[in-house]
Amino acid sequence: MATLSPAADRARLSVDAPGAAATTAAERTAVAAVDGFWRRNFTQLFGRPYQSPRVAGGYRGSNGPICAGQPALAFNAFYCPSQDFLAWDENLMDAGYQRVGDSWVYLVVAHEWGHAIQSRINRYQVSLATELQADCLAGATLAGAQRDGLIRLQPGDNEELAATLTVLADTYPWTNHGSHGDAQQRVASYNLGAGQGVLACIAR
Ligand SMILES: [Zn+2]
Repeated sequence: MATLSPAADRARLSVDAPGAAATTAAERTAVAAVDGFWRRNFTQLFGRPYQSPRVAGGYRGSNGPICAGQPALAFNAFYCPSQDFLAWDENLMDAGYQRVGDSWVYLVVAHEWGHAIQSRINRYQVSLATELQADCLAGATLAGAQRDGLIRLQPGDNEELAATLTVLADTYPWTNHGSHGDAQQRVASYNLGAGQGVLACIAR
């Protein structure tokens, strides 16, 4: 997956903005790569079988799937533990894609999948800082998916993926640092996972 620096991307976008079709294609690739990574690695890492969460997929605005009585938020992405599904607002994905590039889509999918992983491991292995742990798992997933040949990253892509956590900090509920940690913490967590793998993200 080739990503551009945010500045270069913005410049390019003034003449060639990616549309909803590009976002949807990136989502499909991201889901396949992230699920593929966990299919290959979860059992070996945690000693139990892996089952994929359901992808309830994209909604637009506030008409997303309801989770435990809570309506979906506009411009958000979330994992629903009680029903084991992921969902995201396509407007959030489109906006991130346009500002940052396809790495945004990969990051959101890998992060929400990280929450699904948290619900599949022992409670004591789940960090109190659940959002930062999800970022760490996202880093481990995207770097691991590259090692497993599921996606192709270019040199510097990991840094750019981490930078996406900074670029949009506080713009959306998904990047609100009250609940997700500040940009520096998110980047550090992402890099920990990308550099040292899944087990470095696990509380013990
Ligand atoms: Zn999260």
